[in-house]
Amino acid sequence: MTFKDLQLSPLLLKALEEKGYITPSPIQQQAIPYALAGRDVLGCAQTGTGKTAAFALPIIQNLMKPSDKKHSKKVIRSLILTPTRELALQIAENLNEYGSHTQVRSAVIFGGVSANPQIKELRRGIDILVATPGRLNDLIGQGEISLSHVEIFVLDEADRMLDMGFIHDVKKILALLPAQKQTLFFSATMPAEIQALTEKLLKNPARVEV
Ligand code: AMP
Repeated sequence: MTFKDLQLSPLLLKALEEKGYITPSPIQQQAIPYALAGRDVLGCAQTGTGKTAAFALPIIQNLMKPSDKKHSKKVIRSLILTPTRELALQIAENLNEYGSHTQVRSAVIFGGVSANPQIKELRRGIDILVATPGRLNDLIGQGEISLSHVEIFVLDEADRMLDMGFIHDVKKILALLPAQKQTLFFSATMPAEIQALTEKLLKNPARVEV
């Protein structure tokens, strides 16, 4: 199987070709068709399996279609929540590469650095926001970010969020997301608290495991 068999846009296939990717990894083969079809996905996968592209490619493709609702300015249509600055930067870099032939724009925010350049970037208008939980809550509190137009939500490395003590921050964010949305949920392990969260958050999810 090649990426061409996954019904991806020629604009994404071109970017993948430029990166030298031909064969989708097992998690990509399993998750991409469900995610493209708008299904919720529960993915049991670790870093290194190619899970970033498994959610990034369908998000970009689904956001290439204009929003049903007309907004006077650009709104955040997808939120990717991830526990660490390193993961956030990697995801943002991948989104830029995969989306390089599209009009879909993303930004990344994380703590430990000045928020001012991040705020500047947000004010330019973006489609996809990659964020760590603490900084996201800070900027929501400052009125710089609204999550009310999010159509696709990714919770990446959910078990690490729990281990790192971010679960309270995550739950605060979940409460601000629209009820009607697509959710892609990834965790390497499924401890009871994460299991409970999936049951609350996911609607009839497709389960993919590698
Ligand atoms: P991830 O698990 O998303 O962090 O990806 C692990 C590494 O594999 C990253 O360096 C990706 O750029 C790379 N990668 C992801 N998907 C593919 C693929 N289909 N073919 C070759 N390399 C890939």
